[in-house]
Amino acid sequence: MSTEISIEFFPPTTAEGAEKLRATCAKLSALKPAFFSVTYGAGGSTRERTFATVKEIAAAGFQAAPHLSCVGSSRASIREILQEYMDAGIRRIVALRGDLPSGAGAAGEFRYANELVEFIRAETGDRFHIEVAAYPEWHPQARSPRDDLAAFKRKVDAGANSAITQYFYNVDAYLNFVDAARKMGIAIPIVPGIMPIGSFSKLARFSDACGAEIPRWMRKAFESYGDDTDSIRAFGLDVVTRLCEKLIAEGAPGLHFYSMNMAGPTTEICRRLGLAG
Ligand code: FAD
Repeated sequence: MSTEISIEFFPPTTAEGAEKLRATCAKLSALKPAFFSVTYGAGGSTRERTFATVKEIAAAGFQAAPHLSCVGSSRASIREILQEYMDAGIRRIVALRGDLPSGAGAAGEFRYANELVEFIRAETGDRFHIEVAAYPEWHPQARSPRDDLAAFKRKVDAGANSAITQYFYNVDAYLNFVDAARKMGIAIPIVPGIMPIGSFSKLARFSDACGAEIPRWMRKAFESYGDDTDSIRAFGLDVVTRLCEKLIAEGAPGLHFYSMNMAGPTTEICRRLGLAG
């Protein structure tokens, strides 16, 4: 059986970006993803743009899943957003806590993602398939791996149907996380998040912030390529393809690609994996 894939976009900020995303989405649709998800800015900063992007993907005939973060939001505003998505025929949501920019004041009426999952279930019953985030290398703010797993379990107990992980480049981190989750009685699919590598400097910055480790052997190789972007891309494709091969061999229930709104890397990795539609 072929591995199911899903693909993540961020909502474009300009008309040009929107046009480019339309083309990207059309190209990636050849991979027949189960759904395209669209991220949501902290504190609702992309509310309209996320909604518009999701509606457009759905109107083009694809399954679209909005991300929804709760920190900084009121119950009334989340209720309103859920209603908008129900009216638009959306059936899947990625439910998150999100991060407020440092210095942002009011924390809103939700503290953690499990409260959002609980709220979505209470308000909308089984209408939505709810995805939540999971962290094989642990969330940067978690007090301990055990606390982070307990937080994950609370989201599952609140009604999450499946999870998508933060990206990682160490297969054992994922396998260990899945084992630990299973031992706690967490039975939902835990789909690895896959970050293709286009630019090493961007990846390094981003990884520091979100707590994803770039193994030393990878870092050293990328650094040795300097400004040679062709070599960086080629090496990145090899590394990520091999990661996906191992994950599939280990029985990962699917692959979720952080596409960064680009069709090329995800398409090439899927082609190499024999998952091209
Ligand atoms: P939670 O599950 O609430 O966990 C957050 C932290 O709090 C963890 O450290 C956890 O251990 C801890 N915690 C949980 N409950 C408790 C408790 N009761 N007491 C003490 N500690 C607790 N961000 C966006 O802004 N927009 C997006 O669209 C977006 N999409 C994402 C998609 C995926 C697949 C992933 C993996 C992340 C995404 N993020 C997004 C980032 C995410 O919002 C951040 O990682 C955020 O810091 C945590 O969100 P969460 O839903 O995992 O939070």
